[in-house]
Amino acid sequence: LRACPRHVLFATLIAAALLAAPDVFAWSDAGHLVIASIARARLSTRADPRNAAALKAAQALLAGDTDPLTRPDFVSRSLWADRWRDSDREGTRERYEATRRWHFVNAQVGGGQADDPCPVQQWPRPASAGPAEDCIVNKIGQFAAELRDPATSLVEQRLALKYLLHLVGDLHQPLHAADRQDGGGNRLATVSASSPEVSNLHAYWDRALVAKLGGDWRSLARRLERGIAPAQERAWSAGTPAQWAQESFARAVDVAYALPAGRRVVDEQGTEAVVLDAVYDERAIPVVAEQLAKAGVRLAELLRRALAARPPT
Ligand SMILES: [Zn+2]
Repeated sequence: LRACPRHVLFATLIAAALLAAPDVFAWSDAGHLVIASIARARLSTRADPRNAAALKAAQALLAGDTDPLTRPDFVSRSLWADRWRDSDREGTRERYEATRRWHFVNAQVGGGQADDPCPVQQWPRPASAGPAEDCIVNKIGQFAAELRDPATSLVEQRLALKYLLHLVGDLHQPLHAADRQDGGGNRLATVSASSPEVSNLHAYWDRALVAKLGGDWRSLARRLERGIAPAQERAWSAGTPAQWAQESFARAVDVAYALPAGRRVVDEQGTEAVVLDAVYDERAIPVVAEQLAKAGVRLAELLRRALAARPPT
């Protein structure tokens, strides 16, 4: 394998970059803020008679929340579940180990009968108490059920809402619903053709591709939200979290893991990095845009169903 010259200088960094990469990330903060922002915008319209009640109920729940990990508003709380997970990551790792698997489902790409990617059949109440080995599909179902149930304690309703604001977003990152024995791309080194920095495929989807959509998160959310056609909104609002996971899985197989053939750089230890080129980006960027918009539409619909018929808190 031959490296193109401009990458040779940086190729010794591949192994180090992979070791330094965090285990599992999620959409960058920007991605989550975009998704929550689209959801809030959809709930702020009069297009659906349930919107006003659902948004009011969500905001009433969040208004009583003094947790300092994020700002307290609807959009910022979409970051809370990552902050909570990482809050003791460098210490006791109790929160980290108890909740980190809730952010993804490792469905295996490429045959090889994998274990059931979501093995947990029963869940305790409250859902925020565990179990640690559960996956994102189950957790979304559990937290949505808790939010619908007026018998759920106020504290748990608030947690359920914060988890939903985040997890519906994570489920739409294709590499949160697929794995090729590489931690959903976390251990697959990549170099962008436009930048020499060594990264990994998962981080490329979390951050780099969102950044390539352009603008700050507010303007990106507005742009994506305006582009949602009524027919798309209706189609996207259907389905279950398990179906959304299958859709993300298909995008991972068809696009995220469809790596450019033959373009690799290799460091002195023989560790390879895939060079992601403009052709790859051209296919990936529209998928990222659509997944962000879809996640926003689905988050809004899920909150409508869970919150619109609630008695006032
Ligand atoms: Zn996450």
